[in-house]
Amino acid sequence: MSDCLFCKISAGDIAADIVYQDDDCVAFRDISPKAPVHLLVIPHKHIENLYDLREEDAALMSRILLTLPKIARQQGLDQGFRTVTNTGTGGGQEVFHLHFHLLGGGSLHPI
Ligand code: AMP
Ligand code: ZN
Repeated sequence: MSDCLFCKISAGDIAADIVYQDDDCVAFRDISPKAPVHLLVIPHKHIENLYDLREEDAALMSRILLTLPKIARQQGLDQGFRTVTNTGTGGGQEVFHLHFHLLGGGSLHPI
């Protein structure tokens, strides 16, 4: 998607503070952090949100889920972390490229 901010970050066309990447995903620091560690983990593939997932994405999503705790540990989050995925305007989504917020490093309030 040529006009998608996170596709541009994934492609390296827009700078971001990238902390991890592999063939499936890239993780970078949120520009407006809500916790001492606040990353966004996105698939390279443009998927709008959870509504947009297809059966063919199952293996990709599984690998990304397995990668989240590895990224968290790399960030020193040994006591735990929070993942949030906003889906659609009703879920507060602002950037329509699927992303997992990965938050930690402080005392997070219960949801
Ligand atoms: P959401 O509301 O779930 O769609 O989250 C979008 C997130 O993207 C917000 O937390 C923003 O702070 C973050 N964000 C927007 N632009 C950038 C950017 N250029 N680099 C890093 N994070 C960004
Ligand atoms: Zn995109």
